[in-house]
Amino acid sequence: MKITKLTTYRIPPRWMLLKIETDEGIVGWGEPVIEGKARSVETAVEELGHYLIGQDPRRINDLWQVMYRGGFYRGGPILMSAMAGIDQALWDIKGKALGVPVYELLGGLVRDRMKTYSWVGGDRPADVIAGIRALREAGFDTFKMNGTEEFGLIDTSKKVDAAVSRIAEIREAFGNDIEFGIDFHGRVAAPMAKVLLKELEPYRPLFVEEPVLAEQAEYYPRLAAATPIPLAAGERMYSRFEFKHVFERGGISILQPDLSHAGGITECVKIAAMAEAYDVTLAPHCPLGPIALASCLQVDFVSYNAVIQEQSMGIHYNKGGEVLDYVLNPEDFHLDKGYIKPLPKPGLGVVINEEKVIEASRNTEDWRNPLWRHFDGSVAEW
Ligand SMILES: [Mg+2]
Repeated sequence: MKITKLTTYRIPPRWMLLKIETDEGIVGWGEPVIEGKARSVETAVEELGHYLIGQDPRRINDLWQVMYRGGFYRGGPILMSAMAGIDQALWDIKGKALGVPVYELLGGLVRDRMKTYSWVGGDRPADVIAGIRALREAGFDTFKMNGTEEFGLIDTSKKVDAAVSRIAEIREAFGNDIEFGIDFHGRVAAPMAKVLLKELEPYRPLFVEEPVLAEQAEYYPRLAAATPIPLAAGERMYSRFEFKHVFERGGISILQPDLSHAGGITECVKIAAMAEAYDVTLAPHCPLGPIALASCLQVDFVSYNAVIQEQSMGIHYNKGGEVLDYVLNPEDFHLDKGYIKPLPKPGLGVVINEEKVIEASRNTEDWRNPLWRHFDGSVAEW
């Protein structure tokens, strides 16, 4: 079998899908994207495609190394996201060629169902209680929300109170019937992270995500030593070679590699195995589309330490397109009390509505994240 063609489709709300065709008629789909930089990833896919045309798509391990090592320069969000989507499509082809789901090729199921959680509230998280109520009716009991809006390197007790009182209200409203993670989103820097973590402790969040930015990872063990709240991070790390520093230093309890950013299934299975050896759990990052979610699930279902899966159905980012809009087998993604079953179809288990993808890709607007500024006019982390 040989790879004959790669085609990318940028589609709403902010995704990109990749179709890889073969001379035997088997087609694989991937989702290579960095939110807000889809065109850069698209160009990287096109450049990596030169290595792939004419090659046997079943030699995934070799093609991964060719793409990673063959170009001399490697790593980072653009290249690793391009590789991730290509890798997903190669696994899709291999599974379809052999007539089995990808998790069968990775050693088979380690669990029968996977717990998922739902986002609640938007970027400016005001009325989360109503949101949680609605999602509770849909069966969810675990949620994630943003912890703060713009937050200064040093900020006021008023801002701290605003962040903490909202969390206190949620605990008061729902007691221990729900669990929630709080995403600091890299908006909080080390001096205030310490303060906020301490104040949030009484409300027992399931985790705090990106308590500081990944580039300040040296703070993770120091913050972890000062709080019992499990710390989570990983969406802005792109390979084993970055994650290994987190394992060596410690501090992170929940690792969140993104299957569309960190080299794909091939790489994330290895990252998951490394994490297991350090008693670090896995919760793949996935505010993206159906192929990214299906790829996460392939890893979750073969990784003992996978504890919870993010999914973006109904997320505030999905303006103009929903996870299942481009999928012909939505029934396989049915959530029962927040749990999802292994996707039963061969490959990644997603049947893509290609006509709809092509239609949606015409005149797609580029999605860009908002640029926030502090009151004094300086740039704020979004
Ligand atoms: Mg996050």
